[in-house]
Amino acid sequence: MLLRDHENWLLRCFDCGREYDREPVSSRCECGGVLELVLTDGFPRAGDFRSGRGVWGYSKALPVSDESKIVTINEGNTPLIMAENIRVSERTELFIKNEGQNPTGSFKDRGMTVAVTRAKEIGAKTLVCASTGNTSASASAYAARGGMKAVVLVPAGKIAGGKLVQAIVHGAKVIRVSGDFDRALELMMQEAKDREELYVVNSINPFRIEGQKTGAFEIFEQLGSKVPDYVILPVGNAGNISAYWKGFSELKRWGFTDKTPRMIGVQAAGASPLVQLFQSGKDRLVRWDNPETVASAIRIGNPVSWRKALDAVNASGGQLLSVTDEEILAAQRNLASREGIFVEPASAAPLAAIERLKDSLPRGSIVVAIATGSGLKDQGVVKVDSEKLPLISDARELEDYL
Ligand SMILES: *Cc1c(COP(=O)(O)O)cnc(C)c1O
Ligand SMILES: [Zn+2]
Repeated sequence: MLLRDHENWLLRCFDCGREYDREPVSSRCECGGVLELVLTDGFPRAGDFRSGRGVWGYSKALPVSDESKIVTINEGNTPLIMAENIRVSERTELFIKNEGQNPTGSFKDRGMTVAVTRAKEIGAKTLVCASTGNTSASASAYAARGGMKAVVLVPAGKIAGGKLVQAIVHGAKVIRVSGDFDRALELMMQEAKDREELYVVNSINPFRIEGQKTGAFEIFEQLGSKVPDYVILPVGNAGNISAYWKGFSELKRWGFTDKTPRMIGVQAAGASPLVQLFQSGKDRLVRWDNPETVASAIRIGNPVSWRKALDAVNASGGQLLSVTDEEILAAQRNLASREGIFVEPASAAPLAAIERLKDSLPRGSIVVAIATGSGLKDQGVVKVDSEKLPLISDARELEDYL
């Protein structure tokens, strides 16, 4: 199906501006750039912006022409939780957008439901992706739901146990790649390039970005039609920061607000090519080989959407910064033990960044941290020696511990 059958939608290269009738098989422009979908007319209005809950409640803002093809397991509609025990500064309100409550436990589901719906529309049979874990978990679940096959490439020995289990239980073909995520993505793109039957669901897929932007719409509505001052999120391949920026920019373009938030992207110190680019003031990303961090979801040295991310940060007056693994793990503990929210390490990076930025955030700010994925997926990072826990066999022994 051609994109022009989708009334009012245009598919164009973010880098060179070239327009496409249908996404190329690799989802990539001939110039190597990243594509984006643009709604050119028929913008949503206050009265018809939302027709239901979750991602598809915003279908007026999504590129779908045949709603009977929608592949959904109720993604989105995640809670925005105000922090009660973690304080940033006087009068500053911190909110956690808990994306771990999506069907497969990460924000990836927001985009996957739209990309897999598109795959169904054009009759694709097999979804393919390279993944640090959550994309493969999500793609596998939506392939199952949509009656398609999924083939996922993961870096050997480097994927969190829970995420691997998800891909397997949903019935995907899981292939390990010797090397890191960037290598897996390269191999996948090489192979998918000339194979029409494969549909690429990495974050380079512009339909995924459209689904992910609904996180911004939800935050706006959950704050009572208000745009926060700061949105802080972890950055790996940089699709999500691009998606949130697109969502907030559209709210402004469509007349819902005249404000946009400052976008703050957080990378792990051992995988921070975008931070390096931002600080250098240069205009080309230098890829990192062998990125290393405990936050496996952002262990990426060659972010595909780096240009979009840099644009989001610069246009919004935001910034990119990195935090250490120690800071990430401390923030993960802090969030779990003080607010009751257990996130995976990548998702704790924004909290670690807030800890650093505390004194530079103006008082009275509204800050939203995106908790991108559930902590249950990557239990191995929490060191537990169960042998050291108290062991009892009768009620009297229990008294000693109460
Ligand atoms: C995918 C993922 C990220 C990184 O998102 P990008 O769009 O690649 O920048 C961060 N956290 C979690 C939990 C993820 O699954
Ligand atoms: Zn191009």
